[in-house]
This record gives sequence, structure tokens and C-alpha cells, in this order.
Amino acid sequence: MRMYKKLFCISIIPVVVFFSQTNYSKADDAWQLDGDSAEMSDDEEIEQGKRVDEYIRHHFYLCDDAELIQAVNTIARKLIILSDRKTLPFTCTIIQSRSINAFSAPGGYIYVTYGLLAFAKSEDEVAGIIGHEIAHASLRHVSRLYHEVMENSHGSESDLDITLLLNNHLEEFEHEADSTGVFYAYKAGFNPNGLPDFLERHLDLMMSDRIFSLLNFSFSVKVNSRINLLRKYIPTLEKE
Ligand SMILES: [Zn+2]
Repeated sequence: MRMYKKLFCISIIPVVVFFSQTNYSKADDAWQLDGDSAEMSDDEEIEQGKRVDEYIRHHFYLCDDAELIQAVNTIARKLIILSDRKTLPFTCTIIQSRSINAFSAPGGYIYVTYGLLAFAKSEDEVAGIIGHEIAHASLRHVSRLYHEVMENSHGSESDLDITLLLNNHLEEFEHEADSTGVFYAYKAGFNPNGLPDFLERHLDLMMSDRIFSLLNFSFSVKVNSRINLLRKYIPTLEKE
């Protein structure tokens, strides 16, 4: 069976949805700054996450395999309990799609596709992926992006401004989520090499598509950079 190979950028879509749904430049907006802090409160993040979750549930079929849902949530719970924001009401939802993807929305909403779970070779790999998404929430990445937009957009509503800001930070946030997620996986007793192993096999699969490999050289450079940093980071875990 031919695996549907389109990857719609792990973790990027919800952030884009978030910014496209948020009218961040209006003073009377629900997301206006609160005193000196431009970061969202937990309640604000959860509220925003709910909106993304409603969108996902409206536009995608969800997996109803109770056994698979339980298996994924068992892995997620082991990681959440070790995370830095374990009071968030984390949920982990499986989307019935053959694409290989995982992403998160603000407030602890995590999504993995059936295709990703089918492609994963071990619980260690799934733990690495889910750990990465939990880390995005733990590290308040959406909130920090929002802060950056507020600081730098100067009231501009230019999509280009926002896109540049997102591009500047997404790579940095991916690396942060990788190392933090792998740290959670390691602490929970999973093999921390699960994430780089998964990324490596997935990149091989994608680059085996000639058209994709020609068009996405910069993507492969970025994923290779993530893999290389993880391979250097993981041996340091045993020394901590
Ligand atoms: Zn990510």
C-alpha cells in the first residue's frame, strides 16, 4: 500500500491557525496585553486551544479504535506527569489520516495521525513524538510567538511580517521541543533515540519521493539538523 507522504509540517499548522484566527492588533481584542506580560494565561491558552480543537474535530475524522487510543494515552500520561506544565488539561487525539504527522494546539491539545502510529516501529518512537508536542506546551511556544508578534509587529497586520517572525522562531522552537521532549521520554523510561530514529526513517521515506526531494532540499537540511543535534544531546542525558 502506498503510504501517503504529505507532511503538513509538524506543529506548524496549529500555530498558523492560531494566528489566522486571532485578531492580535485590536486593542479591544480578547488577547490584549495584561500589564507588563504579553504572554497568555493558562486559561487564555486553553480557550485558544479549544477553538483549534473544534476546528480539528469539524474538519478531520477521528480514530475510534479504543485499544489504540488507550495505548497512545498511556504513553502520553507517562510523559505528561514529568512535564513542566502538568496542570494543563492535556488531551491526545488520534486523527484518522494516513499522513504521517503530529502537532499541538495551545493549552495541551495534542494530535497524532493514524499514519504516524502505523509508521512508528516502537513505543519509544511514539513517546519521542508525543514528548516533542508536550514540550511545545511546556515551553509556552505559542504564547512566546504571540509575545514576539506583539513586540515586533507594531500594529502591522502584514502577513509577511508574521510569516517572517514565525520562520525565525519555528526552527528554534523545534530544537527546544526536541531536546525537552526527549528528556521527558528518557525520564519516563523510554529509549531517547526514539525521536531521532523516527525522524531519520521518515525523512528517508520522504526523500525517496523524487519530486518531493527536488522541491524540499531546505526541509531535509532542517530535519537533518534536528537529528544531528539530538544525536549529540542524547549521550549527555546519561551524565545528568
Ligand atoms: Zn514541533
